[in-house]
Amino acid sequence: MASPAGPVLSLGQPLLDQLRAAAEAAYPEECCGLVIGRPVPQAAGAGPPSYVATRLVAANNRHAEPRIAFELDPATHLGVLRQLRQSAGQVPAECLLGHYHSHPEGPAAPSPRDRRQATEPDHIWVIIGLAQGRAQAISAWQAPAAADADFTAVTLVADPA
Ligand SMILES: [Zn+2]
Repeated sequence: MASPAGPVLSLGQPLLDQLRAAAEAAYPEECCGLVIGRPVPQAAGAGPPSYVATRLVAANNRHAEPRIAFELDPATHLGVLRQLRQSAGQVPAECLLGHYHSHPEGPAAPSPRDRRQATEPDHIWVIIGLAQGRAQAISAWQAPAAADADFTAVTLVADPA
C-alpha cells in the first residue's frame, strides 16, 4: 500500500461495526458520539499524523431537528472529558480524538452544515452515510486548523498497525 499523504486513523472492525449499528438504529435521525483513542508517536517530520481509535462513546443527539443535524449531548461530552482527565498519566493514555455522526439520507462526506460547525482545530470527524436506512460508507475527516480552511480527508485503516 502506498503511504497516504494525509492523516491516518486506525479504526478496528468492531468499532466500524459499532458505527454502522448506531447509524442504523438511529435512522431516520442522525446518530452521534465521541471517538476516543490516541495519537501514534512519530519522529518529527515522519509524515502525516496517525491516530488509533480505541473506543466510542454514544451520545444522545440533542439537536431540535435530529433528522438533518446533530448536537452531542453536552453531559456526555463533559463526562468523557472529565474521565479522560482523571485517567491522564495512565499508560497508554487516551484522549478525545473527535466525534462521529451519521447522514441518514446522504453521503459519508462533510455537509455544508458540518463545515460551518468545524470549529475545533484538528478534531477528527467520522461520518457514516446511509441509503434506505442501511449504513454504507464510513469516512473520516480532520477539521482545519484555521477557520477559513477545509476538512482534510483522513485515511481509515480497519486493522491497527
Ligand atoms: Zn453531517
